[in-house]
Amino acid sequence: MERPGPERVLDFLAVPTLRVEEGTARVLFANAAARALPFLLEASGQSTLLDREGTPLFPGQHPVERAARGEPLEGVPFRWETPEGHRTFVVHARLDRSCSPGVVTMTFQEVTQWSRAEEDLLRALGSRDTFLSVASHELKTPITVLQLVLERLQRGARREASFSGSHLAERLEPALRQVRRLGVLVQNLLDVSRARNNRFVLVCERFELGGLMRELCERFSEQARQVGSELTMEDCPRMEVHWDRLRVEQAVSNLITNAIKYGAGGLISIRLEQKDRQVFLRVEDRGIGVPEGDRERIFHPFERAASGHRTESLGLGLYIVREIARAHGGTVELAGRDGGGSCFTLCLPLEVAGMPNG
Ligand code: ADP
Repeated sequence: MERPGPERVLDFLAVPTLRVEEGTARVLFANAAARALPFLLEASGQSTLLDREGTPLFPGQHPVERAARGEPLEGVPFRWETPEGHRTFVVHARLDRSCSPGVVTMTFQEVTQWSRAEEDLLRALGSRDTFLSVASHELKTPITVLQLVLERLQRGARREASFSGSHLAERLEPALRQVRRLGVLVQNLLDVSRARNNRFVLVCERFELGGLMRELCERFSEQARQVGSELTMEDCPRMEVHWDRLRVEQAVSNLITNAIKYGAGGLISIRLEQKDRQVFLRVEDRGIGVPEGDRERIFHPFERAASGHRTESLGLGLYIVREIARAHGGTVELAGRDGGGSCFTLCLPLEVAGMPNG
């Protein structure tokens, strides 16, 4: 049947548009864009409609039913859940009572893109606020400790004319620990801003990777022992690589430090393997693990998984690992372990072009 003129025009509109009978909610007309949205025409669509906060709509809350009851809807947002993810719409409804029963004209403007951008923005703002509060706490703690140690030293030196060297060395130890902690923090912040601007510039050299891995294992074994963990080097074949040694050392150190932090005192194993021209470097722990839904997010700057929340963590370590991997043309991935824990795999090509060292 030929449609009346105005409806033919509405059919060309990209905005889904309905004309609905007042009272009964019977759809009198749906333009082509509206016919592509099954939830508008089928009552079964109800269960897949949510309000802006993600709460499912009760029967009778469907925007079409509300409008048919004569409710004025001016820019009311709602979400439609699909297997591919949610889509957000804003609905407008205008009731025309010049005929009986009245007719409501409704439009459903899709705003999915803007609403995702808004969610991302809010999330980024939240992360920034958390970052600022954790970063200031992190900076303040070592500075307070340093101040106390130095004041005590000053008082001691004033009182005792012969201030022995060994006494001084002992008292300087906690101060040095705090200075190292500050150094790491500031280095991480510098790396993040470097990575965000134009990535790392690699200074590559040829070295034997197995030796570096054994060295790192030894360096961190005492720290692991202090939390009841044992650090083991499982497979460690000799292999010559052409990488930025300092950067790779930094990436692996971050992964080992995390395994110690989140490894719940269990065994931590490090494995090295070469397949074709790719090197796989695995750090595996038996700790709290990362829920599957968080495994991508934690590689973003300032992001931390909900479990094992620690005030002293800034959420920068894994971001830096990923940037180092990318700069080498490689990847870093996280998989869960059967029986609990995490397995991080750094995969880098054996030879990487980069600025030569020296
Ligand atoms: P930080 O440890 O300073 O928070 P990272 O970027 O290194 O920053 O890690 C981000 C988050 O990822 C951590 O806060 C933690 O929730 C999670 N995470 C990292 N490594 C592990 C691990 N080995 N086991 C469990 N969770 C981890």
